[in-house]
Amino acid sequence: MKILNISDLKKLIADRHNRRGYYDSIKMILSISVGIIVLFLFLYDTLERFELTTFDYRMRIRSSRDTSDKIVLIDMGEDSIKSIGRWPWPREWHATMIMALSQYNTAAVVFDVIFSEESNDLSDGALEEAMKTAGNVYIPYAIELDKFNKEKKRWDVGNLIVPLRRFSRWAKGQGHITIVPDIDGTIRKSPLVIDYNGKAYPQLGFRVACNLMGLNPEDYTIIRTPFSRYLKIGTHRAEYIYVPVDDKNQMIVNWAGKWGEAFKHYSYVDIITSFQSIRSGGKPLVDLAELEGKICIIGLTAAGLYDIKPNTLQPTYPAVGTNANIMNSVLNGDFVKKAPRWIDSIIILFLAIILSINISKVRHVRGLSIMALMVAAYTLISFAVLEFFNVWISFIYPLMAVTFSFLSVTFYNQVVISIERAKLFTLATKDGLTGLFVIRHFSLLLEAEMSRVKARGGRLSIVMSDIDHFKKINDTHGHQAGDFILKEVASIFMSCCRQLDIPSRYGGEEFIMMLPGADVNDAAMVAERVRSKVEKHAFKMGDKVYKANISLGVATYEGEEIKDDLIKKADNALYEAKDTGRNKVCIAEPKPKEETTDSKEKK
Ligand code: GH3
Ligand code: MG
Ligand code: MG
Repeated sequence: MKILNISDLKKLIADRHNRRGYYDSIKMILSISVGIIVLFLFLYDTLERFELTTFDYRMRIRSSRDTSDKIVLIDMGEDSIKSIGRWPWPREWHATMIMALSQYNTAAVVFDVIFSEESNDLSDGALEEAMKTAGNVYIPYAIELDKFNKEKKRWDVGNLIVPLRRFSRWAKGQGHITIVPDIDGTIRKSPLVIDYNGKAYPQLGFRVACNLMGLNPEDYTIIRTPFSRYLKIGTHRAEYIYVPVDDKNQMIVNWAGKWGEAFKHYSYVDIITSFQSIRSGGKPLVDLAELEGKICIIGLTAAGLYDIKPNTLQPTYPAVGTNANIMNSVLNGDFVKKAPRWIDSIIILFLAIILSINISKVRHVRGLSIMALMVAAYTLISFAVLEFFNVWISFIYPLMAVTFSFLSVTFYNQVVISIERAKLFTLATKDGLTGLFVIRHFSLLLEAEMSRVKARGGRLSIVMSDIDHFKKINDTHGHQAGDFILKEVASIFMSCCRQLDIPSRYGGEEFIMMLPGADVNDAAMVAERVRSKVEKHAFKMGDKVYKANISLGVATYEGEEIKDDLIKKADNALYEAKDTGRNKVCIAEPKPKEETTDSKEKK
């Protein structure tokens, strides 16, 4: 009787051991392939939005940056609107502001307002006069950018919105205040210099910072190193400044802090009234002497009037602040730069490889902790690199490489395990010679089916069988022939029954079959089919042909008996077949029904 073949089991275990190395290399290849797929996602910027968001988080968590106390913001906020009136204000106000600031020797006055249209000659004249007298007023223009032309490597420019000639001729300098939001609408970068019609248009804050350092931002050159791309300003070595920019000449704005937290803020109307009260001998609200030597950036911050855009640090940030931050980072030489793509690519592949080396040989739980550890470590590293080196390394793609590699390896492990389980199950339940279930497994299935029928009703029959004079076959033709016949008879059983019937090897040359849903006649029919097929079958092995017969006994489950009794019933029927001439089917008589009081009464 072949219940579980121990040598097969040993072979399976040895086999598994030998295949370890093979499995490990598959896992390595798998996680490296995942790394390569992630690399492609990275190179095509597939998850750009997520990457940007992780950058924002890093920027928000990092410690605050030094801010130059030279830079102050003069806000035209709600309080100023309330006192001065609806926007736009008569330009005399700005003229007064310029006068006030120049009286206190500010370094520069920077308007974030485009004076592109005439108001009236009186007001415009006042502003013009004030600008001319002060001589340190910077004003902006706007450049409408269509899109970046990758072939020409410059922006396609739409409209230019420029200030009136009467103002620009007296301006100390001009610069653009164009903002280029990222795909999610957030301001993270600023085009420092826009080339248009052969001329360089610098950003306003950048222009002011360069001028204060004695440099002209229009004279720039591009320097490339393997690690970065720089905008170089300056004509001789001692004065060079290098600003890291991307291939659209955009700098990543190194926000010094949230609106109101970084840089000193003054209210526009407070400065005007302080100036007026000083002139009339009163006590000023603001000590205007504080403004000496400062760069004053004047812009709209009243709700509904300014350009509200989300930036890296917060969901609403007045666009005028961009100038202050650009200026601050240029004056402090403090820039955030993005790691070059090749470094990010190496990180992605490196992490996938490290993960594959570490988890290919360990179990799930260890693998999971290794992955979690790597995720945590890389998160920390990416924050630290920004904090200490001001470098933005890719975050989402390396983490994706790690987690997806882990998942693919885990999945693969799972598949290997289920295949091995299936193999073990087959070994434990199937007979090696015939491929039929062994009796031990058959018994379980029969018991389950019996209790199902007992609980829910229905029919169930079994067929017991034994090949006739098998000893003789063995003796005359040899065991090999016997084995061959056993295999063929097993196939005949399979071919004679339905999908849900379960033929099994009972042991030796005995077979047992379970027929769920079959009554005794159905089962007898199947048994007869088997018998006649075996009888007619020519067992051809090589050039020899053998004949064999089989006897079968049929019994049906009556809902009361236990498994062994049911088998015994079928066995008895089989004995009857043997005793009464072999090569036939006998049916076990059902137990006569005891008469119940009910049926007696009916009689
Ligand atoms: P009967 O008609 O009364 O069944 O006669 P029989 O010769 O078949 O008698 P019995 O059932 O007792 O004989 C069983 C024989 O089957 C004994 C054994 O040599 C042979 N046998 C049992 N298992 C195997 C097997 O796996 N391979 C081969 N070749 N022979 C087997
Ligand atoms: Mg026998
Ligand atoms: Mg026999």
